[in-house]
Amino acid sequence: PRETTDVVIIGSGGAGLAAAVSARDAGAKVVVLEKEPVPGGNTKLAAGGMNAAETKPQAKLGIVDKKQIMIDDTMKGGRNINNPELVQVLANNSSDSIDWLTALGADMNDVGRMGGASVNRSHRPTGGAGVGAHVAQVLWDAAVARDADIRLNSRVVRILEDGAGQVTGVLVQGAYTGYYVIKADAVVVATGGFAKNNDRVAKYDAKLKGFKATNHPGATGDGLDVATQAGADTVDLEYVQAHPTYSPVGGVMVTEAVRGNGAILVNREGKRFVNEITTRDKASAAILAQKGESAYLLFDDSVRKSLSKIEGYVHLKIVNEGKSVKELADKLGMPAAELEKTIGTYNGFVKSGKDEQFERADMPRELASAPYYAIEVAPAVHHTMGGVKIDTKAEVVGKEGKLIRGMYAAGEVTGGVHGANRLGGNAISDIVTFGRIAGAEAAKFAKDN
Ligand code: ADP
Repeated sequence: PRETTDVVIIGSGGAGLAAAVSARDAGAKVVVLEKEPVPGGNTKLAAGGMNAAETKPQAKLGIVDKKQIMIDDTMKGGRNINNPELVQVLANNSSDSIDWLTALGADMNDVGRMGGASVNRSHRPTGGAGVGAHVAQVLWDAAVARDADIRLNSRVVRILEDGAGQVTGVLVQGAYTGYYVIKADAVVVATGGFAKNNDRVAKYDAKLKGFKATNHPGATGDGLDVATQAGADTVDLEYVQAHPTYSPVGGVMVTEAVRGNGAILVNREGKRFVNEITTRDKASAAILAQKGESAYLLFDDSVRKSLSKIEGYVHLKIVNEGKSVKELADKLGMPAAELEKTIGTYNGFVKSGKDEQFERADMPRELASAPYYAIEVAPAVHHTMGGVKIDTKAEVVGKEGKLIRGMYAAGEVTGGVHGANRLGGNAISDIVTFGRIAGAEAAKFAKDN
């Protein structure tokens, strides 16, 4: 006998688990299929925050923000090729998504600044713990508490359809069960991006050939193939983002929050060369233009104390330390006088509130408390902006512009929300908001069919 369910969700990252929770809350029977042996996808590695505007945590901190400013920042960061309707959904639902997560038990009360944002709106747990791991855990607990049937080691290899534009289920390849079919009224594709698949990345952007990636091993893009084989159209696949601060020594991404909390970038001459909190594409290009094609994230003890995530980097031994600026510069083989001058000038900008060199808008603290620290960083492939084409209800658009009935998609597997360049903090926002929408819409579709 064939197994049947209302909604199948492919992928157990933030988008898939958010969809599972909202589909269960809408009364649907849900199966979540995850190809990897662990849940959480690339979401659990997300280190920055979740962008949201007009939220309760912002109000508590006295931060004045507007959804329209979040829309404007996101469009500008994406070089205006984003689908404006999807950006409106992202921003207009963002504070509800914070409330929704908070009601599920998340702590999103710390609010910082990420690149390309003109207001502090990157929400994250108090104390600087990784936002992605936290959100993935909260959503996992919520999905389990709601009896979603979650299966690991279970790869979806086909979305089945009836030949007339409606999905009918999925073909699963279980690592321990072989192939089997689940019949379903609706399918949510939440399979994430393909940053870890360098062949595919280089096909769309040859400059990134041979680049390291910050992603989990499952970010290969086979979910995208599964969706397109079943008729999904794609958009913006050529836009692949490099994260500017990957540690080539440690093989880990260093969160943007280190810069957000006050670190600067210096080159081997001990000089700043870019607005540290500009968008990721610009920061990455600026680093690659420096001697050695890498740079140093430089910060002091007050930045370290502001972000517990930094302790992990210390344990990884990727953080160089000096009791003074001079000692640090000597260790790095950098001209000490130049580095002292750079820090002195920057601290002057912090005091006056105006960065006269690079127009960095947010300079939260002076770099004045020893010890001083530096992490070598270079860009690595981080996020794939393009993917499956969706509408504002997370319905998948087919190749002839017609909706594929019963197929929904959310998260990094989709394209259009981020345009040519994703702002830090918008990925978690995307997966929670569109994941919720996809789950609720899929449940509704299943009920009506
Ligand atoms: P998002 O941030 O959009 O939620 P993630 O990368 O966090 O994306 O999660 C996507 C998840 O989907 C990953 O855990 C990945 O292993 C899983 N996945 C990708 N392709 C498939 C597939 N064909 N079948 C099942 N799971 C898949």
